[in-house]
Amino acid sequence: MKTYTGSCHCGKVKFEVTADIKSVISCNCSICYKRGLLLAFVKADQFKLQTDENLQTDYRFHAMKIHHLFCKDCGVEAYGKGNGPDGSATYAVNVRCLDDLDLETLTITPFDGKSL
Ligand SMILES: [Zn+2]
Repeated sequence: MKTYTGSCHCGKVKFEVTADIKSVISCNCSICYKRGLLLAFVKADQFKLQTDENLQTDYRFHAMKIHHLFCKDCGVEAYGKGNGPDGSATYAVNVRCLDDLDLETLTITPFDGKSL
């Protein structure tokens, strides 16, 4: 597995993700669609936030279960946080925010979040 560094646009939100990122989800739900998010899902022990959590705003809607965290300064959502189907903490990382990841090499899988 590889460790990627990631950040929002202004750099106030920084994190590390350890994962093999080969494929990502392109979701058509109301928020992913508008934000153009390409997501990779990782477990809590694969994700490390390196900056203060309070530098982000926690936006929730609909079932209120997913924390859409975005930088208070630049507005970029670098990742979201919720629980996976088995109830464990899961991070949805916006792979566009990762350094040294070539998007052209990824398999993009559509996900019909709109119908949920
Ligand atoms: Zn920022």
